[in-house]
Amino acid sequence: LSAAELARIRADFPLLKRRLRGDRPMVYLDSAATSQKPDPVLDAEQDFYLVRNAAVHRGAHQLAQEATEAFEGARATVAELIGAQPGEIVWTSGATATINLVTYAISNATAGRGGQAARRFALQPGDEIVVTEAEHHANLVPWQELAARTGAVLRWIPVGEDGRVTVEDADRIITERTRVVAFTHVSNVTGAITDTAALVRAARSVGALVLIDACQSVPHLPVNVSELGADFVAFSAHKMLGPTGIGALWGRAELLAAMPPVTTGGSMVEVVTMTEATYAPPPQRFEAGTQPVAQAIGFGAAAQYLSHLGMDAVAGHERTITRLLLDAVAAVPGVRVIGPTDPRDRIAVVSFVVDGVHAHDVGQYLDDAGVLVRVGHHCAQPLHRRFGVAATTRASASVYTDEADVAAFADALSGVRKFFGVSQ
Ligand code: PMP
Repeated sequence: LSAAELARIRADFPLLKRRLRGDRPMVYLDSAATSQKPDPVLDAEQDFYLVRNAAVHRGAHQLAQEATEAFEGARATVAELIGAQPGEIVWTSGATATINLVTYAISNATAGRGGQAARRFALQPGDEIVVTEAEHHANLVPWQELAARTGAVLRWIPVGEDGRVTVEDADRIITERTRVVAFTHVSNVTGAITDTAALVRAARSVGALVLIDACQSVPHLPVNVSELGADFVAFSAHKMLGPTGIGALWGRAELLAAMPPVTTGGSMVEVVTMTEATYAPPPQRFEAGTQPVAQAIGFGAAAQYLSHLGMDAVAGHERTITRLLLDAVAAVPGVRVIGPTDPRDRIAVVSFVVDGVHAHDVGQYLDDAGVLVRVGHHCAQPLHRRFGVAATTRASASVYTDEADVAAFADALSGVRKFFGVSQ
């Protein structure tokens, strides 16, 4: 992105103009937690309520038709961003809900729901579910629960010093007993990009289902589901310039068609009698009840915004920011980055430890300087335990992050240890 393009992008984000305590400019480096939203997303949501609000898929009236077109149009736009077909996109309330949906569908299949077609999802006691040590709790706890419900065994691939799993470890842990492999595409702590091809190959060689948590990749890298080769992909709108309350499950069409529903009720059925019901084909089968229509339309606008910029351009810009963030942290003595040191192996999510200063104190100090970062375990306690720390400070960027943001961060960070009396 040129400087002019970046300036235009920043102008699209009203919240970036905010000032903080003491009339300081705001330096937002917490995009991995949630991104800011550009005008086209805010406008799309408001426009829906202003001129198109109606129940989708039901009414025969004009408004309902327009609302349905906008809602389904958003699905097509989100699908296109990741190289998918619209029918393979199921709306959820976010990635957490997506992963829970898949795990409960597997439970239902294990309990005999969904008939013959769903048998391929059923687990037997002793079957293995494999995750990695780098998972966000959203891609760990639902699998722990699924294992507890079905008698399956949860195993995990350890991560190395740079936060990534190795092919050798993956090949050792993924065996003939493995039925599901679930892993993050990009870590929300280390920013490390997983070697998806190696994990998918290992999973495929034993016939396991593959779920990829793409929460931190879809907003920052070109992601094409056909190239990924997974069976399920989870992501959230709010991390990719879209609204909260909406996310997606991408599923391979033939798998979604065979998968039993989880949440049941209106809008997901075909014929209902007093004793039973037949279910609609996907994606509606997994979308019971009134959907978050305005949020879906906002999600569509966010996907459109990113498509328009081009994900190669987004990734290229963020690689520059990654390098600058890594340099900023490396320049301060007594500060250690967790994760890969080569910008090509990671995204602009940079977690670090400041020797002698607790992450919460670091965060507080940076906040006083108007630099907003995240502190804590970032919903990845096992990964922090792996690195022997309870908490880290995390600076994370998005497409609107500029060099001035990183410079303000670098400047503030350089004063932390002195302030807390651990260096001169
Ligand atoms: N996985 C990863 C890698 C994440 O970063 C997050 C959000 N921090 C989630 C899953 C959960 O997403 P959500 O909270 O939007 O459901």
